[in-house]
Amino acid sequence: MTYFERPALTLLTDTSYLAAEPEPAPPWAEDPVAEETWRLSALCAETDPEAFFPEKGGSTREAKRVCVGCDVRAQCLEFALTNDERFGIWGGLSERERRRLRLQRRDVLSA
Ligand code: SF4
Repeated sequence: MTYFERPALTLLTDTSYLAAEPEPAPPWAEDPVAEETWRLSALCAETDPEAFFPEKGGSTREAKRVCVGCDVRAQCLEFALTNDERFGIWGGLSERERRRLRLQRRDVLSA
C-alpha cells in the first residue's frame, strides 16, 4: 500500500458528501475548462510578457503586432471584457480601447 492508496484520515463522521455528484452548473455559468482552453493557443505565451503590460505611456505596438497573428484573439478579447481586465493588452486592444468598446456595446444594447 502506497501513501496515496491509504484511506484519508478524517474527524468527520459523515463522509457521504464525498460520494455525492457535484451540483450541475447553471446554464449561465462559464465552463472553467472551456474558459481556459483558449489560453493554450495564446501566441503571447511564446513572447515577452512585459510587452503586454507596458509602463504608462509605453508602446503597445509590439504586443498588438503579436495579437494580430493570434488564433484566439476573439476569445481573449471576450475574456478581458467579461472579466473587466483593466491592465494590459488583451485581444489586441489596450485598456482604453476595451473601455471604448464596452461603452459602444452598452450603447447598442440600450438603443
Ligand atoms: S490576442 Fe494577444 S493577448 Fe490575447 S492571447 Fe493572443 S497574443 Fe495573447
